[in-house]
Amino acid sequence: MARQQLIAGNWKMNKTIEEALALGEGVAAGAGPYPAVEVAIFPTFVALPALAAMLADSTLKLGAQNAHPAESGAFTGEIALPMLVGLVDMVILGHSERRAIFGESSEFIGDKVRATLDKDLTTVLCVGEQLEDRNAGNTDAVVGAQVRDGLRAVAAAEMPGVILAYEPVWAIGTGLTASPEQADETIGTIRASLAELYDGDVADTVRILYGGSVNPGNWDEIARQENVDGALVGGASLKAEDFTELVRISAAL
Ligand code: PEP
Repeated sequence: MARQQLIAGNWKMNKTIEEALALGEGVAAGAGPYPAVEVAIFPTFVALPALAAMLADSTLKLGAQNAHPAESGAFTGEIALPMLVGLVDMVILGHSERRAIFGESSEFIGDKVRATLDKDLTTVLCVGEQLEDRNAGNTDAVVGAQVRDGLRAVAAAEMPGVILAYEPVWAIGTGLTASPEQADETIGTIRASLAELYDGDVADTVRILYGGSVNPGNWDEIARQENVDGALVGGASLKAEDFTELVRISAAL
């Protein structure tokens, strides 16, 4: 079954509101000619309202980079999902920077996935191994556990609200990419584990992105892999021309 390509830009902690508006405008214009590809941008929280207003008539999807699973409360510095409803379509959860720098456990990320689906928002659940895991031959075990923990409270019927992103940690922001074969193989293993956790239909229909130093020079070959349904992009999402070139490449597959 053909799965729609998704090119998603994680802007991380970059761009003032003014800069974010300019980048969003450039992305909307550059992606416009390629409606077959779904395009999503994930700016900082503070830029979301202005971008939501600017993109109200655009097909570009808007997402948040994180959210807290509680409805509200004493969680200084956090953003709750009810604050995002009506503002965003998607929420990235479990990014390796949240796991490694902010100490988020797979269990906590699973709580966030559950809470996000409860609000009818799409989850982009990130998983990926450290270099030591890959070198020790533990990639499938590590990634498999992250997938199981992240989805532990999600029923098969809810899986249309879940997108997975396989992001080998050693390839994020480093200029190193997984080879197209490595990306395809690990994403294929994730698909096989979804068939075990759920069923073949879920495994065939869930979109799984690759992320890790994707740029216009390496995307074509990775994008052509059977199991790869798009990209989660950090650095190259900060320039409208580079990011929309990825959209053009996906549209030409
Ligand atoms: C990311 O942060 O999700 C990412 C893939 O970053 P980069 O493209 O910069 O490696």
